Amino acid sequence: MAASAMDGVAATALRSVLQRVKQAAERSSRASDRIRVVAVSKTKPVSLLREVYDTGHRCFGENYVQEIVEKAPQLPEDIEWHFIGNLQSNKVKPLLTGVPNLAMVETVDDEKIANNLDRVIGNIGRKPLKVLVQVNTSGETSKFGVDPDGCLALVKHVTSNCPNLEFCGLMTIGMPDYTSTPENFKTLANCRTEVCNALEIPEEQCELSMGMSGDFELAIEMGSTNVRVGSTIFGAREYPKKQ
Ligand SMILES: *Cc1c(COP(=O)(O)O)cnc(C)c1O
Repeated sequence: MAASAMDGVAATALRSVLQRVKQAAERSSRASDRIRVVAVSKTKPVSLLREVYDTGHRCFGENYVQEIVEKAPQLPEDIEWHFIGNLQSNKVKPLLTGVPNLAMVETVDDEKIANNLDRVIGNIGRKPLKVLVQVNTSGETSKFGVDPDGCLALVKHVTSNCPNLEFCGLMTIGMPDYTSTPENFKTLANCRTEVCNALEIPEEQCELSMGMSGDFELAIEMGSTNVRVGSTIFGAREYPKKQ
């Protein structure tokens, strides 16, 4: 996508993020087309998402059900939406019916939510949903995500008991203040090794969603395949990012 004189601030910022992703991929001898950038658009108006969409970008992330079900119908259907927030069971049906083009839920962190997603997908008859298992790599009890110790068991539950879910990999946020450390990224990569050994799948078949505005380049150098970038593209948020 060529830069255009008509670009707004968000479109320009996205291009710069994509460039930095490419450079980080090159530094770590990885193919940049294997690294997905989720433009995290929570709290941002549909007009700004449209501006980024118009540059050719198709992958957007939201973390509140009410917000994504409001925005998705106002935007083109070829957007690939990622849900990246904590998902409550009673919100599964509104999410799945309200966003037919939901591409992935990155935040499956217990059996109950996996079972709920699986059941509702069966009921409404949509195609299988890609999911990531969210791992709590910070060791903080207050955070969402399964403990690294419980990661493999949850992955096995999804792959064995949830035919409507397509297990695609692991996700982490990092620290409770939404920052990450190299240790958080290393912990997630170690979980992947354990999962891939146990399931006998190649590591390329298990994505790592890690890295946000402040650390996506480091995350890529440590193996991330999916970075979730919000404020660097869309500007600072008006309301606090903690839920
Ligand atoms: C908001 C959010 C992001 C993006 O954070 P930035 O620091 O604005 O890039 C990434 N991941 C999750 C889960 C989020 O909620």
